[in-house]
Amino acid sequence: PVRVRMAPSPTGSPHVGLVRTALFNFAFARHAALQGQDATFVLRIEDTDKERSTEESYQAILDLFRWIGLDWDEGVEKGGPYGPYRQSERGDLYRDVLAKLAASSHTYECFCTNEEVDARRKASGSKVMGYDGFCRDLSAEQRAAFEAEGRAPLVRFRMPEGSITWDDLVRGDVTFDTTHVPDFALCRANGDPLYTLTAPVDDATMHITHVLRGEDLLSSTPRQIALFEALKAIGVAEETPAYGHLPYVMGEGNKKLSKRDPQAHALAYRDQGFIPEGLMNYLALLGWAIAADRDVFSLEEMVEAFDIKDVNPNPARFDLKKADAINTSQMRRLSVEEITHRVLPFLKDAGVVGDPVGDADAQLLELAMPLVAERINKLTEAPAMLGFLFVDEADFTIDPDDAAKLLTADGLGVVRAALEAVEGLEQWSTAAIQDALQAKLVEEMGLKPRNAFGPVRVAISGRRVSPPLFESMELLGRDRSLSRLRGALG
Ligand code: GLU
Repeated sequence: PVRVRMAPSPTGSPHVGLVRTALFNFAFARHAALQGQDATFVLRIEDTDKERSTEESYQAILDLFRWIGLDWDEGVEKGGPYGPYRQSERGDLYRDVLAKLAASSHTYECFCTNEEVDARRKASGSKVMGYDGFCRDLSAEQRAAFEAEGRAPLVRFRMPEGSITWDDLVRGDVTFDTTHVPDFALCRANGDPLYTLTAPVDDATMHITHVLRGEDLLSSTPRQIALFEALKAIGVAEETPAYGHLPYVMGEGNKKLSKRDPQAHALAYRDQGFIPEGLMNYLALLGWAIAADRDVFSLEEMVEAFDIKDVNPNPARFDLKKADAINTSQMRRLSVEEITHRVLPFLKDAGVVGDPVGDADAQLLELAMPLVAERINKLTEAPAMLGFLFVDEADFTIDPDDAAKLLTADGLGVVRAALEAVEGLEQWSTAAIQDALQAKLVEEMGLKPRNAFGPVRVAISGRRVSPPLFESMELLGRDRSLSRLRGALG
């Protein structure tokens, strides 16, 4: 079987790197399932850091995964055979494992303060960072002396000597010399277990077969592999999983995308009107490609094509323009009905339509959406595009910048001519409006189409960017169109 997991820490607003990792794990599991394997995608929550973990962050992570369509098979909210799936509920297991590791001498108690460790390093001139093994083999007297001082020990893992090598699923052979991997703490002096213990113990007890995660965790891997050997020796683990490290994501100035970058926050994309298909597709490209000449694809297409061997180990560059372009391409793949459905919450939020939507508004929306669906790149652009059709005449306003640019003295002359041309129309239809304006402004007055229709567009829609003008005027109706043309003239 194939068992992969997503193991987010619910601290703060979820990062795009987290979603990228989840996506690659999901694609890995679903692809294996397509190949007929028994494959499971597990979601567990690493909330051992009590001060920094929040319920809000936990909910945000679940919302995000659901929004993108990364359904997990087993884990929080779903249950499964190896739960509970929140580390904060697995304390008994970690205590039990710690006791077994101590009994088998895989760990030892350490009484040193950080200051003492630092002072010893300075004195010896050692270049090796981290713990120096001082407490590895304390005598009974030394221990008693520390305890008499009232020191509470933490528990350290005894790193074996030699080197640790694994065949990384993304990077090939990776080797760490363990002289550079000092004995590390597994739990705090107050007994709280640390990530260094909980992640491998859970990977072992949840029978995870492949650990795919960000490169930032590469240096944890030799520790986790060493701990796995100990877990096997005490009967907690059966097999060490395979590891694969996904490339760093670089932001502005070729620096690692950090939590401080606004573009690092995954939920911000939803709020900015990205569709989940767009964000998913963009994040998939951070380290992977479906083909050399193709960058737009669906989650299903990714699942079908995904092979971890194709992941590029080199840092991926985050490019907001590219993300926008991919989102636009994904928008163009949706039907008008689907886009209507998706923009509705944004239209309600902006007060363009009521909630629930009234019958008249629903009808108008159905007529207007075919005009805008192909013109918006994000869902958030819909309210500004459509607002002019739904607004009460008394509340209609013209964008001051657009007015300054287009409703100049010349522009107002064009609006006046347009008013004259359409005022007496017998039939108020797109074709009739177009013919009348074309004849008057372009043929008779000799204006270029841009100069002819720009000012009229601003007068009618309040903006330079709007759905097609003639259709808009038909939808708006004769009375409202004429009143807007007159209104622009003051
Ligand atoms: N909880 C860790 C994190 O959010 C991930 C652990 C792992 O994938 O091993 O960074």
